[in-house]
Amino acid sequence: MADHPFPNQSELPRSLDLNQPFDSPDDPVDDPAAQDAGQTVTTTVRHSKRSDRLLREHMNPRNVAEIWLKRLIVFLVVAAIAHEIFASYYDRKMTNAIREVSGQQEIEVHCRRVWDEVLDFRVKPGFVWFGSGVANLQLNVCRDAAGWSSDQEDEDKRVAVMVLTHELAHLAGHHNESLTECVAMWTVPRTAAALGARPEDGASLAIWYSANYNPRLPAAYYAPGCLDRSPPDSPLLR
Ligand SMILES: [Zn+2]
Repeated sequence: MADHPFPNQSELPRSLDLNQPFDSPDDPVDDPAAQDAGQTVTTTVRHSKRSDRLLREHMNPRNVAEIWLKRLIVFLVVAAIAHEIFASYYDRKMTNAIREVSGQQEIEVHCRRVWDEVLDFRVKPGFVWFGSGVANLQLNVCRDAAGWSSDQEDEDKRVAVMVLTHELAHLAGHHNESLTECVAMWTVPRTAAALGARPEDGASLAIWYSANYNPRLPAAYYAPGCLDRSPPDSPLLR
């Protein structure tokens, strides 16, 4: 430190004329008239806080870790904003679909954010808190349901439309899982229409689901022969 021209920046005298370009134009300067008159002139150069800070940063560059930490924070903030915009688009799309199918305007879908997953390790693709009016879906389920009409052979997307409809059936008041599945299979042609597909595509989705997917679910969800009977009694099917 001894060979440094300014041993300690924090101890720099305030009057030291280090950096004229940074000075305020209002700073006192030498007064030639006063000098001519034989007066002693004291030159005091005020440094603004900003110029002091710039000087300190120039003399003591920030370390690399601090720079990368700031970049990481900026990246995370931008990613979080993009994630929220992405998820809220699907919130609206799913909410509009279930409102159209049910005629109920006070229900909604919440597509779960990354921070929802951090706070709650629920692994179900969808769930509702009874009485809340909100269907919670995994974000990938929302994305798949939104994209199903253009890729109807994708099994994940087929199932996603059924998950959305299943949670809608819960919001309509059904608690029994087998009955909820059956109501969903009967309702899904209208969900398909609300998502931009043809109702007959939704009907073929229900037939595929009943034969290939529902039997693989836990016993409580199994609804054998559901589509072979008349539709169950449900507010969604009246
Ligand atoms: Zn359920």
